[in-house]
Amino acid sequence: MIEIKEVSVLDGARWHCVCSGCCCGGYLYGPIEDEVAERIENHRFSGNAHLIYPQGPFETAEIHGERVRVLRRVNGRCVFQSEDRLCVIHKELGFDAKPAMCRIYPLNVTLAPDGVAYVSLNMECEGFSKGCKGPLLVEEIGDQLDLLVEQATLFVSEEIYPRTGQKISFDAYLDRFERPWLDRLESDGPWLKSMIADVCGDAPEAFPKKSEMIQFRNEILNKIEELSASEAQKSELENDAIDAGFNRSLLLAVERLRGGALSELLFDREVLRAELQNAVFGKAFLRAHSLLSALGFEAVKLALAAQLLPENGDSARALAVVNRCLRFSSLANLEIDETCERYAVGWMQEEK
Ligand code: SF4
Ligand code: SF4
Repeated sequence: MIEIKEVSVLDGARWHCVCSGCCCGGYLYGPIEDEVAERIENHRFSGNAHLIYPQGPFETAEIHGERVRVLRRVNGRCVFQSEDRLCVIHKELGFDAKPAMCRIYPLNVTLAPDGVAYVSLNMECEGFSKGCKGPLLVEEIGDQLDLLVEQATLFVSEEIYPRTGQKISFDAYLDRFERPWLDRLESDGPWLKSMIADVCGDAPEAFPKKSEMIQFRNEILNKIEELSASEAQKSELENDAIDAGFNRSLLLAVERLRGGALSELLFDREVLRAELQNAVFGKAFLRAHSLLSALGFEAVKLALAAQLLPENGDSARALAVVNRCLRFSSLANLEIDETCERYAVGWMQEEK
């Protein structure tokens, strides 16, 4: 068990909730604490009552090998989300009555071997990019720090893999990669290019050439579609409704991404910078096989978001959808990491 010596919030990170309601669908909501369950069960809700009471507000699901109580989902969304996309528990019982995971969303806590709990943001939240000019995160979360540490979800090991098969200590990783990257991201310049160069030993272009973007996008979407369809079919045969539902929703997301109008608009540089800073600080690469595949993934994801702005040009929405569609856990499920690594290495070679 790591002893927490310090809680660190990304300097300059900003966020605010835009009440999109996106986080109340597509996840598994649990395990639910006993006191929260009791409060919910003892309250007669007015909103959504027709949905909540026939079967009860909870169901069970397997999390980390254990069968636990989770919030019931109806059509993939939490049963407590009302038609205006707001939370009925929040409306009727207040913020503090919600499950801990809902209270801390979209914050992520990564515990590192140096005893620091790093607080970053979940980039699937629509308030991430829209909130870039919002209030400072550090000022928003003051009284939630204890709760955050309790809810830590990512644990950094003593050894880091910059590339598959290579390892360095966490301290060496901080000195060689993370600190210089965060400094570089503070300044203007080809951030992603230099970051990939650090782990590849050479400097690729930050993004694929424009003419190749559609091909990249289609290859990735085809791969997701193919794997999600077969996973969904397999889960249905095994009567695993949760997994089947997740894969079906991924298929819908792919359909939506395919339908997105291509745009010549450039993605907001401040959002890109915030996204990379947040990913580095939150050590998101731990969910990928190596730093290189994580960076390759970031490049693919940002390129997708830049090219897939929906017709109304809402870049925050595009980024949230791409993050949701290609979240790291999905990458592991979909074995797409290798694809990202291939692209990162491919760009490097093409540019030689
Ligand atoms: S996704 Fe983010 S912005 Fe939208 S409701 Fe959830 S916390 Fe708020
Ligand atoms: S309990 Fe409320 S905040 Fe949590 S997922 Fe359900 S609707 Fe969203």
